[in-house]
Amino acid sequence: MEKQESAHVLVAGSGLAGLATAVWLAEAGHRVTLVEKRGRLGGRTISFEVPGVEGHVDNGQHLFAGCYDALLRYVDTIGTRDQLVWDAPPFAIRTGPDQLLTLRAPTWLPGVLRRTVGLSWMFWPPIPLRERPAALRTWARIVRAALRPTPELDDLTVDRWFRRIGAPESLRALVLDQFVIGLLNEKTERVSASMFVQTLHWIGKRAMSGNTRAGDAVWPRVSLHDLFVAPAARYLSARGGEIVVGTGVTDLEITDDTLTGVHLSDGRVVEVDAAVLAVPPWSLTTLLDRGRLGQYDHFAPVRKIEPAPISSVYVWLDRPLRMRRLAENLRDTTIEWVFDTTGMHGVETNAGHCYSLAVSASWEVVHLPNAEFAAAALRSLAEHYPEVAHAEVLRTHVIHQPQATFSAQPGFDELRLPQRTPVDGLFLAGDWTDTGMPSTMESAAESAVRAVDRVRELFTRRAAKAQVADQL
Ligand SMILES: Cc1cc2nc3c(=O)[nH]c(=O)nc-3n(C[C@H](O)[C@H](O)[C@H](O)COP(=O)(O)OP(=O)(O)OC[C@H]3O[C@@H](n4cnc5c(N)ncnc54)[C@H](O)[C@@H]3O)c2cc1C
Repeated sequence: MEKQESAHVLVAGSGLAGLATAVWLAEAGHRVTLVEKRGRLGGRTISFEVPGVEGHVDNGQHLFAGCYDALLRYVDTIGTRDQLVWDAPPFAIRTGPDQLLTLRAPTWLPGVLRRTVGLSWMFWPPIPLRERPAALRTWARIVRAALRPTPELDDLTVDRWFRRIGAPESLRALVLDQFVIGLLNEKTERVSASMFVQTLHWIGKRAMSGNTRAGDAVWPRVSLHDLFVAPAARYLSARGGEIVVGTGVTDLEITDDTLTGVHLSDGRVVEVDAAVLAVPPWSLTTLLDRGRLGQYDHFAPVRKIEPAPISSVYVWLDRPLRMRRLAENLRDTTIEWVFDTTGMHGVETNAGHCYSLAVSASWEVVHLPNAEFAAAALRSLAEHYPEVAHAEVLRTHVIHQPQATFSAQPGFDELRLPQRTPVDGLFLAGDWTDTGMPSTMESAAESAVRAVDRVRELFTRRAAKAQVADQL
């Protein structure tokens, strides 16, 4: 009889979905092989070295919220929760020099009340008086839709939906449109209204389930490599897991709709009891084109999933800026976010004070040459922080990520695949699989929770079947 503890599971892809799947399968006692096509672990949460800078620089600033339950469970498993900085909800809008719209409730207020006051700013921003009734009606419509999301909204873009519900332009320009882009990494004219409403729904649900810190911003105190990747590799190695980098999955061995082996790019065929493909949709498409998986129509929708870009510039200055929050959201300029990376890490290094400047859904700038984009970013910074004029720019480092997230356009709900597949023993994970969440670290971690559950069900079912066979 097949023993659940000794079953061999191969996990392909070492982004957060693959790492969390591998770690939790190892925790459950399985023999795990983690296979990563690139030369380093980490996927989109990778960190790398930049000449002249100590330690690692991340693949763009990553922010998460107190409602990221699955991701928090992952950092608990690998033992890095103490490397997180908990902060107030990330609503701080900078409209010009010394003009920061934010509300920090007095610290003497009890926790829940303090956060409610902090969040309430969003519902009452400084817009013209005559547009305030329409703004309140808009918020009421958004909250009502978020309480009960309906599939019809997947036919509409957020832009069309906002027009339909009469969202005033002033509220959109100051708060709403950037709020959507921040949550979904896509422009309101492209992104599905259903994705927006579903996102508010799960955040609200987690907040209502007693998590009073659901809306808080959570920042990494160390690089993503030290937070998510290196500790996971140590965790796996300590439990006998095998880690293979620079080698991708190229095809699958399938007999009678049951997975029996996995082909690797180094020519090996690895025998497995189960496998989890935790690769992005654009990589799964390659497997469909070149391998046996292509014969299953089930996977075809994945071909229609499109990516959306994020562009970032890391800037090292010889002095800190006068930021009031660790992250500020700029208006009317090229750069959308300024993150105080050194402030989050709490350590000033000899490379200078580091800021990460980011543009989400960066369609307009993703094709700019690095020097041109860095210059535009520094001009944006100087417009909002005049003290930049007196600072020396020690170095810059540009990262354009054309495939940063998926683009949840109308109809996207239909394209997401569940973690279980028609091939017995083969499962999917990844932020794009059906979690109901936007393209985030939480969706990646949640997909891992679900994939691991499906693997457990598989082995329980196989064990029961084997027991019946033994008794016959
Ligand atoms: C610049 C940037 C900023 C972001 N900001 C945030 C943020 O603030 N908050 C947030 O929550 N999310 C953010 N995200 C999104 C978040 O990083 C992703 O949603 C998440 O990391 C996706 O993880 P994943 O495991 O699903 O996919 P990935 O990280 O893409 O991992 C997939 C892995 O599979 C590997 N692979 C592909 N094909 C094969 C193969 N055939 N065999 C073996 N391996 C293969 C790839 O090399 C890759 O390592 C950001 C992303 C970027 C790029």
